[in-house]
Amino acid sequence: RPRVLSGIQPTADSFHLGNYLGAVRQWVALQDTHDAFYMVVDLHALTVNPSAAELTRRTRIAAAQLFACGLDPERSAVFVQSHVREHAELAWILICQTGMGEAGRMTQFKDKSAKVGEGSASVGLFTYPILQAADILLYQADQVPVGADQKQHLELSRDLAQRFNHRFGPTFTVPSPYILKEVEKITDLQDPTAKMSKSSSSPQGILDVLEQPGPLRKKVMRAVTDTGSEVVADEENKPGITNLLRIQSAITGTPVPELEARYAGQGYGTFKKDVAEVVVETFAPIRERTEKLLGDEAELDRMLAVGAAKARAVAVETMAHVRENIGFLPTP
Ligand code: ATP
Ligand code: MG
Repeated sequence: RPRVLSGIQPTADSFHLGNYLGAVRQWVALQDTHDAFYMVVDLHALTVNPSAAELTRRTRIAAAQLFACGLDPERSAVFVQSHVREHAELAWILICQTGMGEAGRMTQFKDKSAKVGEGSASVGLFTYPILQAADILLYQADQVPVGADQKQHLELSRDLAQRFNHRFGPTFTVPSPYILKEVEKITDLQDPTAKMSKSSSSPQGILDVLEQPGPLRKKVMRAVTDTGSEVVADEENKPGITNLLRIQSAITGTPVPELEARYAGQGYGTFKKDVAEVVVETFAPIRERTEKLLGDEAELDRMLAVGAAKARAVAVETMAHVRENIGFLPTP
């Protein structure tokens, strides 16, 4: 079975629809066909400087949501990144294999650092993609299911794997991206050309998995739509309607042309109401399961301990090869 690995940041009190459709829903499906490793990347979340209480709370909520969405602690390794020390160790080694210019080309850093002011962004935000490469290479992942926003980072992971293998001998599997075209980028409801994002979308622009039905409906009804009244997909001229069509299609499995035919001549109102309903129906059971899991912290921690043990076994083995190949003395 090919191995997949992916991660999600505990940077908010809920996942959003883009995380769900672009990532977590696929992770669940891949458990049937792949050897799967999924993690809550708390080391990555440090790049935006959360308080200790925030980080703790969000890491638990993120883990609970992963299980609530259908990740199975028996079949997959579901764990918290900081429970496996090797991530930080390999990241340093890869940082030393990465050129400043190469790292400086990463567009996510440019976007995220522009928001806080260039000089104020942490060095961690700059080296983020290299830690991500370490995450992936540590597990010898064949495929990495992610949204389109991670394409460039994955390219860097591939380059680093190839460079290391070339310099120090075969050590890492070179990973391929696994990106589903239909849901590679769910956009912000208020700014339908920008991606929906935990840390940069406005509350009105984001559909949170753990949100109540009332606010969810309101947000969909108030989503920025485009001039005209035809429900048709048109990325250029109708990014708002196109995003909503994609959402409904992804959730219901109905192809976009079929939806266009169904809503012909009906205007935006009816369409939006239906989109709101499928979102609410999808999120409600996940929210309920998440709340239940969060009510039993000991059980949640036990599930994460199972995942950490599975992850550690693989990570330790990879690091033993890395250490030997790079020329470190055997650990006494
Ligand atoms: P942040 O704003 O803190 O970076 P995020 O919303 O980008 O949060 P991440 O935790 O960085 O979420 O990413 C988790 C996964 O969700 C990644 O695989 C990413 O590609 C995917 N993803 C994030 N946003 C979207 C989106 N709008 N559409 C599709 N996939 C997305
Ligand atoms: Mg992100």
